[in-house]
Amino acid sequence: MQKLTGRCLCGTVSYEITGGLGPIYNCHCSKCRRWHGSAYRTRAAVETKNFKWTSGEEHVKEYLREGEATSKTFCDICGASLISRIVNDLEYIGLPIGGLEQDPGNRPVAHIFVGSKAPWYEITDDLPQYQEWPPGGRGVVRQSASEV
Ligand SMILES: [Zn+2]
Ligand SMILES: [Zn+2]
Repeated sequence: MQKLTGRCLCGTVSYEITGGLGPIYNCHCSKCRRWHGSAYRTRAAVETKNFKWTSGEEHVKEYLREGEATSKTFCDICGASLISRIVNDLEYIGLPIGGLEQDPGNRPVAHIFVGSKAPWYEITDDLPQYQEWPPGGRGVVRQSASEV
């Protein structure tokens, strides 16, 4: 079975994923942009049971804004963005794939939340663009590898 590993910037926090990633999306929403300090966040869903911290879990801090459905985790030493959790759907986590140490094989399938894209960034590839969720909604984005 495919095994992927990833880590934070300082290397204190590392993780391991078995079973591959769900479809990869570039999310342009303002929350992802602010969280990552970038034009968009490239992410995939992973089944929680296929994800584990392999070091530094005590340095993983979680940020959940009151009233929000999704929490963000980060390394409390280097500040690197780690996984996100949907608080009422713990079956899946959201993984920003920039932290991976291998090529997962699959490629981004679409740009989502283009309606809130940064005005200074122009999308120049031919991937489908959706104003918000892709057709099928949130459920499509949280698909796991086994459902792709
Ligand atoms: Zn770190
Ligand atoms: Zn987003």
